Amino acid sequence: MRIVIVGGVAAGMSAASRARRFNPDAQIVVFERGEQISYGACGLPYVIGGEVEEFDRLIARTPEQMRGRGIGVRLRHDVTGVDAQAATITVTDRTTGQSCTEPYDRLLIATGVSPVRPDWAVTPLGGVHVLRDIPDGEALDASVRGAKRACIVGGGYIGLELAEALRARGLSVVLLEKGAEVAGRMLDPDYQRRVRAELERHGVDVRCGVTVQGLTGKERVSGVQTDHGLVRADLVVVAVGVKPNVGLAKAAGARLGRTGAVAVNARQETSMPGVFSAGDNTESVHRVTRRRVHIPLGLTANRMGRIAGVNMAGGDARFPGVVGTGIFKAFDLGVARTGLTQAEADALGLNAVSVDVSSTDHAGYHRTSRPIHVRLTAEKGSGRLLGAQLIGENHLSVKRVDVVAALLGQRATAQDLFDADLAYAPPFSGVWDVLLVAADRLH
Ligand code: FAD
Repeated sequence: MRIVIVGGVAAGMSAASRARRFNPDAQIVVFERGEQISYGACGLPYVIGGEVEEFDRLIARTPEQMRGRGIGVRLRHDVTGVDAQAATITVTDRTTGQSCTEPYDRLLIATGVSPVRPDWAVTPLGGVHVLRDIPDGEALDASVRGAKRACIVGGGYIGLELAEALRARGLSVVLLEKGAEVAGRMLDPDYQRRVRAELERHGVDVRCGVTVQGLTGKERVSGVQTDHGLVRADLVVVAVGVKPNVGLAKAAGARLGRTGAVAVNARQETSMPGVFSAGDNTESVHRVTRRRVHIPLGLTANRMGRIAGVNMAGGDARFPGVVGTGIFKAFDLGVARTGLTQAEADALGLNAVSVDVSSTDHAGYHRTSRPIHVRLTAEKGSGRLLGAQLIGENHLSVKRVDVVAALLGQRATAQDLFDADLAYAPPFSGVWDVLLVAADRLH
């Protein structure tokens, strides 16, 4: 049994480790076009911001460690084609430029996503960056050293995390967002405004409803031309979204889904026999709406990889789907969501109702308690939980989103949440935690 994996980060390496454990006799080879495997891209903004000492700290496993477990790793190897009939892939060694074909019995495509680069961002100008992998992070870090004025294009969570990081490095930061508010895809509008206010409180110049038209500069970027005038900047980060890397899956003849990512069943099998797909390039099922979604996140990628690894090695594991849980930090605020926002539920035509609770994250009389805001959304009538959004001034306080995330997976009701025996002591929560107060108002 020869298991071939394309892509050596979250999904790919989880699959390799799991397959090895499940089937000690299988031959497992990972092809990775980059310089590293098995690193935490999620930590990149925190290296830039100085909260993590160096990029190497993000690397969980080296190729040598994986080889020690009997997993072959070929770095700087670009997989350029798949012949699903012959069950072979074409690989180019980026060091020597030589190509060869490699056979497989089971193939996993775990190629992730690429940052979207609008035409104006395809430029030879220095100081223009995207952030996806460690080399991107190193290039951005080097640019930050000579820079004074940063312009971040895109108000999604990566843009917001970078705004904080670049402020921590002493740069002035203008954040441009095409939509009406920042964090547009994650939160309801009034929650978006709270995030924007926090950025502004920390000196980020947030400009929404602004479309970028081009860049100015000679060798290094000097400004960003927008439909609302020129923004001077000697550092530009483009964080306007990602697109799934589906070229290989297409070459294999595998079906793509409506979202544009690779369509798979619960075993992570594509429509082509023997070909699996997992991670950011792959669709999943939303357990609340039962629709296919493309929500590229770290835990999902690792989890899909594990499932694919077991199944490729001869087992039978199933991916249950996602509930759309996300969390990020914006300066002092923690921001989290799970399930659906009220706006998303409305757009889907669901009969949804939300309640808002603003309180303190732990006993109000306790010295360290800070404000927290919770919006809990449920289906009218049945009381079935649909989602939650949380914003807290103690950023860790919003991790209680996990309680709702766990219940959403069980299709639980607001009554179920209210009945949950949550932990209480004054340094942690109120005796009636904000989630319980919100659930009480809903059921
Ligand atoms: P990737 O990590 O993209 O790995 C795919 C690999 O495949 C790449 O190394 C690529 O070089 C390789 N590859 C692609 N094509 C080929 C080919 N043809 N041949 C050979 N190799 C190929 N998620 C969270 O859940 N929480 C967070 O806080 C968070 N923060 C993030 C912050 C940043 C700045 C970034 C960039 C991402 C963040 N993520 C976060 C997302 C998370 O990192 C991804 O969900 C996760 O890395 C996906 O893993 P993956 O294995 O599917 O894809």
